[in-house]
Amino acid sequence: MIIAIDGPSGAGKSTVARLLSKELGFEYIDTGAMYRALAYKAYIQGIEINEIEIAEMLKTTNINYYDNQIYLDGENVESLIREEAISLAASKISALKVVREKMVEIQRKIAANKNAVLEGRDIGTIVFPDADYKFFITASVEERARRRYEQLKANKLKTDYANVLNDMIKRDKNDSTRQFSPLKMAEDAVLIDTSKMELTEVVKYIAGYIGGNNVL
Ligand code: C5P
Repeated sequence: MIIAIDGPSGAGKSTVARLLSKELGFEYIDTGAMYRALAYKAYIQGIEINEIEIAEMLKTTNINYYDNQIYLDGENVESLIREEAISLAASKISALKVVREKMVEIQRKIAANKNAVLEGRDIGTIVFPDADYKFFITASVEERARRRYEQLKANKLKTDYANVLNDMIKRDKNDSTRQFSPLKMAEDAVLIDTSKMELTEVVKYIAGYIGGNNVL
């Protein structure tokens, strides 16, 4: 069974997808981490983000997602990819066609023949258009920026709210206006606005929905 969870940055997708996968005993696949890992590699190697340079980089790049952790060329980079600079670079790199094709192929392979919760921007539209369940999780941009800010603060990353909000607006624009796989709700997805909901409530709702018990 495939459960697709899409939505903009900071809507609570990761928390919801993680908790849900635990509750159901499903594998959790964070597709954003894959784009972040590629952005991280380009960033530390000073590789310019354009179709030609990145196509070259991809030839010698190995991305894997295993046991809730992202691996770049065999190294666990889970804790290195959450900074704002990498978020913006990930948004930029993920707009490239060559990147999308390769990541989608990897995502399909990793989730094949598994019970999995996949979290991203295009899971219900492109990666698994036939997913068993599709949810689109969103919230107001201010609330999403506030949550991201709290998260960065908790992880002791230097930042301020105005910057996070600005970056969030930029990323939303990049993600929803790009030519390939723009962020878009699948027609058959269930829309959940988490602005005024606890994320644990959202998990309960989704689990109930999947179990055939629509509790909201
Ligand atoms: O979800 P997260 O914020 O970690 O994703 C980082 C970036 O990766 C997003 O801003 C988006 O541009 C990109 N992304 C994507 N498609 C996905 C998942 C993430 O384009 N399926």
